[in-house]
Amino acid sequence: MTYDVVVVGGGPSGATAAEDLARAGKKVALIDRAGRIKPCGGAIPPRLIADFDIPESQIVAKINTARMVSPTARHVDIPIENGFVGMVDREFFDEFLRDRAAKAGADRHTGTFLRIDRSEKGTWVVYRDKTSREEVAIRTKLIIGADGARSDVARAEVPGGSTIPYVIAYHEIIKAPEGVSDKYDPTRCDVIYDGVVSPDFYGWVFPHGKSASVGMGTGVDGTDLKAATKLLRDSAGLSECETIRKEGAPIPLKPLDKWDNGRDLVLAGDAAGVVAPSSGEGIYYAMAGGRVAGEAALECLRTGQVKALAKARKRFLKEHGTVFRVLGAMQDAYYRSDERRERFVSLCHDVDVQRLTFEAYMNKKLVRARPMAHLKIGVKNLAHLSGLISPVRV
Ligand SMILES: Cc1cc2nc3c(=O)[nH]c(=O)nc-3n(C[C@H](O)[C@H](O)[C@H](O)COP(=O)(O)OP(=O)(O)OC[C@H]3O[C@@H](n4cnc5c(N)ncnc54)[C@H](O)[C@@H]3O)c2cc1C
Repeated sequence: MTYDVVVVGGGPSGATAAEDLARAGKKVALIDRAGRIKPCGGAIPPRLIADFDIPESQIVAKINTARMVSPTARHVDIPIENGFVGMVDREFFDEFLRDRAAKAGADRHTGTFLRIDRSEKGTWVVYRDKTSREEVAIRTKLIIGADGARSDVARAEVPGGSTIPYVIAYHEIIKAPEGVSDKYDPTRCDVIYDGVVSPDFYGWVFPHGKSASVGMGTGVDGTDLKAATKLLRDSAGLSECETIRKEGAPIPLKPLDKWDNGRDLVLAGDAAGVVAPSSGEGIYYAMAGGRVAGEAALECLRTGQVKALAKARKRFLKEHGTVFRVLGAMQDAYYRSDERRERFVSLCHDVDVQRLTFEAYMNKKLVRARPMAHLKIGVKNLAHLSGLISPVRV
């Protein structure tokens, strides 16, 4: 038997692509190695919940405030209007998505991807079966590489796939404290901009109902991630909470220039380097990437034209390229020193900045705020970056 598409990787991007293709009536295989929970803060926006039909049962906490904390420990509490940020536990969320893909008709294969073999007789994806430990080869017309950061598929098949820049993110899953205090609130996400926690990214405390994720990311070699997280836990009053898991993983920093191999394969999600700058948000973009990869594969199967595979990247960037550019510029401008981080948190006091950034996060749209708001924000931005105004005066 020949599959229409083999999807390698059953995280949010691969499971979405497999489900969409199966619903479109294609013969799909989903290969995932299983057995490891993806390290992740698990924050998802309402747009994801709506676009990908996520049931209430997957949401373990609803967040209605974001607290931005500056290097001098000043903070701004931003209310999340018209909705909430949802929290998912990846242990259950990813399996839910894989199971939904299987219910839609995708065949699940559990094992580790090894290589792609091609001959004049066809293309085979080879993996090592988790139970039998034997090599299994499945024949296919097309392949979607959705095997996450440091993707083996991207490395083998797509130019630049082995040199994507990363930050390393590390977090500890802890038992959440009982009740509410100023230090910890189960409905509030804390984002900590402080050079001692992260010299170039940020730290976080994300509640997950009975547990919480406390962590940080950095691209600076030699940073002691565990020491930084300890500091974060100490200052957040969370050092006495029981630690459930400690884990880390890379977050890609830049989408690849090409996501397809011009032949029979397209990448999606972290494998294609797609995570939003500034925030490190990747789940929504992985699922959006899986969806456009599925659409491109469908078009390729229908028309027989391999150039359809390149449309995945084009469609994705058409919808999200501007947000990525704005967030990239923000990271470059504000994440480079404590003085800049202090200014960034000051800027967050501005109600128009709050509305614009949260609308972009919640609904993935850059919207017009009040008349003149963009101009005012632009001027404030310039004033901060040029040092014309001091951080505390705003
Ligand atoms: C510490 C941390 C915190 C984060 N917090 C957030 C957050 O709060 N919100 C957010 O939106 N994003 C967050 N991210 C980013 C987010 O987790 C990723 O962008 C997202 O998981 C990417 O989805 P994906 O499907 O592309 O890849 P993955 O989720 O990595 O899925 C890849 C899948 O492929 C499988 N796989 C890999 N290699 C093989 C192989 N050789 N053979 C078979 N299967 C294979 C893996 O088992 C996995 O199931 C965080 C990342 C980290 C590291």
